Amino acid sequence: MKALVKAHAKEGLWLQDVPIPEPGEDDVLIRINKTGICGTDIHIWNWDEWASKTVPVPLVTGHEFAGEIVEMGSAVKGLSLGQRVSGEGHLVGKESRQSRSGKFHLDPQTRGIGVNEQGAFAEYLRLDAFNVVPLPDDVSDDIGAILDPLGNAVHTALSFDLICEDVLITGAGPIGIMAAAVARHAGARHIVITDVNAARLELAASVVDAVPVNVATEDLKDVTAKLGLKQGFDVGMEMSGNQRALDQMVESMVMGGRIAMLGIPPGKSPVDWSRIVFKAINLKGVYGREIFETWYKMIAMLQNGLDVSKVITHRYSALDYASGFTDMLSGSSGKVVLDWTAVSKSHMQAVQ
Ligand code: NAD
Ligand code: ZN
Repeated sequence: MKALVKAHAKEGLWLQDVPIPEPGEDDVLIRINKTGICGTDIHIWNWDEWASKTVPVPLVTGHEFAGEIVEMGSAVKGLSLGQRVSGEGHLVGKESRQSRSGKFHLDPQTRGIGVNEQGAFAEYLRLDAFNVVPLPDDVSDDIGAILDPLGNAVHTALSFDLICEDVLITGAGPIGIMAAAVARHAGARHIVITDVNAARLELAASVVDAVPVNVATEDLKDVTAKLGLKQGFDVGMEMSGNQRALDQMVESMVMGGRIAMLGIPPGKSPVDWSRIVFKAINLKGVYGREIFETWYKMIAMLQNGLDVSKVITHRYSALDYASGFTDMLSGSSGKVVLDWTAVSKSHMQAVQ
């Protein structure tokens, strides 16, 4: 099969022939229809310090996918051949105290497909049946391919009660924009989303009813004054990984405000802890998705009117993956989705 492989310890990814994985008794084999390119894949493409310390070479990359089950191990129950599925890309251990109490997303032994284990940028993916999430008919393969980052957004947005609350989101990347859509869907009052990239803010405004603010050119205080916020925002979601954004968020919160942090700062970064203490801020780190509560909630929201489809700005055949990575590297795209069915068709044409 064809797969996008980190074949060399240097910048880039390579479309190569690799063996189709064989499912064990607890696994399924999924034929991949669509995949999403993630910021993580860009780190792996760039071969930055994190990637070179984390990712074994060679490795099939990718972790955001939708497809259908074509083979099942003998012990797999409750799934069927031909079923359309996505799945959780975090492979968790079952031994830890957290896992044994059902908090799978907090298992310290977590490993990621496409990061530590063979991934989904391929015609076929082997996955533990435990990780499979069936897709209802009204959730398309395109949306199925971005459930992983939508899940990050849902996990973060549902971290704190935001019904009728005023919400600040820093970072209008795909996940920040989807978090704004989730906050709107879940019943927040004012939602302000900041960035320093005008294209990203334009995309945000086209996807969700939120107030976009370019903090490179506008004063956030003017915006909050116009909205009539007396003390500040009740709930914050840090989605940029940028230190200045976090500082600005802390400044803009009410006393006792609640901040969920998904953004990953590039390294150690200075934090004005005394501001956080004196403002009695409640700070929560968010990693991945709650397994499987986030999946349940996000599929229910999609079926109940949550629409994030416009966050997908580019679609390519997987054969043209380099164009997709170029768009992602530009820093102005939304989600980029690759179509793997075109790869199988190209084999067939080659045989004919
Ligand atoms: P992204 O890089 O596409 O978006 C981040 C945005 O923040 C960019 O548009 C950038 O212009 C903007 N930004 C930079 N400086 C800013 C500032 N001062 N104020 C406001 N915005 C600013 O990222 P994404 O794919 O949307 O992901 C969001 C964040 O979440 C990233 O930091 C990513 O690494 C992280 N992430 C964490 C997890 C997790 O499990 N914790 C999972 C996925 C992604
Ligand atoms: Zn991802």
